[in-house]
Amino acid sequence: MNQMKEVSSGEMLSLCKRRGFIYPAYEIYGGIAGLYDYGPLGTALKGNIADLWRRTYVLQEGFVEIDGDTIGPEAVFKASGHVDNFADLSVTCKACGESFRADHLAKGLHPNPDSLSIEELQGLLRANGVRCPCGGEFADVEEFNLMFKTKIGPGAGRTGYLRPETAQSIFVNYINLYRHCRERLPFGCIQVGRGYRNEISPRQGVIRLREFNMMEAELFVDPEDKSWPRYGRIKDRKVRLVPNTDGVEVEMGIGEAVDRGIIGNETLAYFIWVTYDFLTAVGIDPARLRFRQHLKAEMAHYASDCWDAEALISFGWTEIVGIADRGCWDLSQHMRFSKADLTAFKRFDEPKEVERDAIRPKFGAIGPRFKGAAGDIKRQMEAMDASAIHDGLVTVIVDGTPVDLDADHYDVVRVREKVNGVRVVPHVIEPSHGLDRILYSCLEHAYAERDGYVTLRLRPAVAPIKVGVFPLMAKDGMEEVAKALDLALREEGIATYYDDSGSIGRRYARMDEVGTPWCVTVDYDTLEKGDVTIRDRDTAEQARVPADDVVAWVKDRLKHGLVC
Ligand code: AMP
Repeated sequence: MNQMKEVSSGEMLSLCKRRGFIYPAYEIYGGIAGLYDYGPLGTALKGNIADLWRRTYVLQEGFVEIDGDTIGPEAVFKASGHVDNFADLSVTCKACGESFRADHLAKGLHPNPDSLSIEELQGLLRANGVRCPCGGEFADVEEFNLMFKTKIGPGAGRTGYLRPETAQSIFVNYINLYRHCRERLPFGCIQVGRGYRNEISPRQGVIRLREFNMMEAELFVDPEDKSWPRYGRIKDRKVRLVPNTDGVEVEMGIGEAVDRGIIGNETLAYFIWVTYDFLTAVGIDPARLRFRQHLKAEMAHYASDCWDAEALISFGWTEIVGIADRGCWDLSQHMRFSKADLTAFKRFDEPKEVERDAIRPKFGAIGPRFKGAAGDIKRQMEAMDASAIHDGLVTVIVDGTPVDLDADHYDVVRVREKVNGVRVVPHVIEPSHGLDRILYSCLEHAYAERDGYVTLRLRPAVAPIKVGVFPLMAKDGMEEVAKALDLALREEGIATYYDDSGSIGRRYARMDEVGTPWCVTVDYDTLEKGDVTIRDRDTAEQARVPADDVVAWVKDRLKHGLVC
């Protein structure tokens, strides 16, 4: 029987490199910290995890999927706050020139160093005489923006950035997606793709990368209705929570956590459960998985609640997914910066009589000034109410450019009218997954040893190779039968590995080490009786199965490995 074993990151990364899961990037040029490539098996594993995630969100939860650009213009990241705020504090050694994250150097000196201001961190490091490992003195703490900046186009070009997260492409496509989803809340959109963060000093393998893979879901909900239809089905399920009130880990029902006000709302709670279900389905060990609520000081100012799914791996408890109720922040910011209408129409059950302060354009001022565009400006202003006034101005779009109009151009009048509904800025609930971290945690949690041999007990649904196919010996017709079986499996979309070299024991060991759940051996009995041996990776048990049934046997077991 395999013994599950805690593995060091060094052992894990060395196995990953040897067996083709993960390679340090640009190794022949000395490598670059924070950049890794996926090898053949890592690529398959990553694809399988992402496919299962898509299944969960698209097939099970009804989200749609897009694939957005990874380069964006500055305005997008001004609106999102990344240009001004997406920075870590760094210190550079005056002697060797190496840089470090200042909050990481302050670990152990303060309970929550990443909540400290630049001055506070500076003071803390100085007071404790913190020096570079080379012995050198550090220069002052400084802010370092984590985005990769570039130019779009030649010459002066336009400033652009590689996206630090995939979410912004979903927000900037809100109008298209709202229409696509029949203009009804709630609706959700996912994206699987690359994000780029110029991390200050990534030293934790694939846990902290400069180019990484994300799976993000953005769910647009009615701000006043954060209930979820499928919540009733899962509210009695239990997860391990670490609430920010006392920081003590408790096992608790999802519903109880909502009723006691620990998790902010039903929809957020539902997606904490979906995250749990997905992560355990891809192979995260439930005993090494917990949901930690962000401390008040840690939470983004706009978020009303935020939880991290954390996996216990050789680097300690590590955030692998963040699940947040981001309120109306994202869409409001993009409305403010782009002037586009990123609202949703909420229809009342019956029309209601309401009073509001409407804006009435003064045509005498607008007509002569804007001539042909005046009609369109009038329509824009008539659609506004007094809440659109900022500093005495209202903003309209003329030929694609925002123009501020002062009070000479409008009146505010109180009107009574019958309305069928209101426009609201949807709130966003976001489960944001770090695919590389999930993949790496799956590998560590799958690591086991038997008789000195390593076995990766990867869940069949994500294993890069599902079946090893071996002829006992490459002679007497066994090879032909094994090759036919191998082809039959591949024709059904089942990844196989055909191997006819070395002892059967060596071939099993090779498959165990890359997490292949089953091996099929064609032997002399197969030629006589038509059955084969199927050997199970985790129990090492062997069953005789008719060769003709092997495809169905494997498919049946793979089906049981899926979420939903
Ligand atoms: P965040 O937007 O910072 O909440 O990140 C979303 C998810 O991406 C996190 O839960 C992590 O799993 C993952 N992640 C964030 N930064 C990195 C990084 N530098 N390298 C790899 N994964 C990351």
